[in-house]
Amino acid sequence: MCLGTCQNKYLLSGHNSQKINLSYMATQICPKCKEDSFTWHMDEEESQLTIWGCYKCSYTALEDEKLERKCSNCHNKTEMRLKDEEGEYWWCSSCNRIIKDPKLQTD
Ligand SMILES: [Zn+2]
Ligand SMILES: [Zn+2]
Repeated sequence: MCLGTCQNKYLLSGHNSQKINLSYMATQICPKCKEDSFTWHMDEEESQLTIWGCYKCSYTALEDEKLERKCSNCHNKTEMRLKDEEGEYWWCSSCNRIIKDPKLQTD
């Protein structure tokens, strides 16, 4: 029976898997293909914009973080203004509602 090393091994692998989980970015439902593969990164040169991209369908959109608002459907402050090559729309990352709204309205 091994108490010392086996326990150490177990703790070490637990620690490693936690570290790996943290390095993955949380994914959201892609507004385009509806797969759970939509994730974001910041552009350090254009610091105002968050770049969203889907690694399944390669869809990309830009988010203006200043325009985040409360979603009237799920009441979380997770509705954001996304801009893609076709236009702009509101998208809520909690309930995934999309509002095609060419006119900008904030509340
Ligand atoms: Zn997609
Ligand atoms: Zn919502």
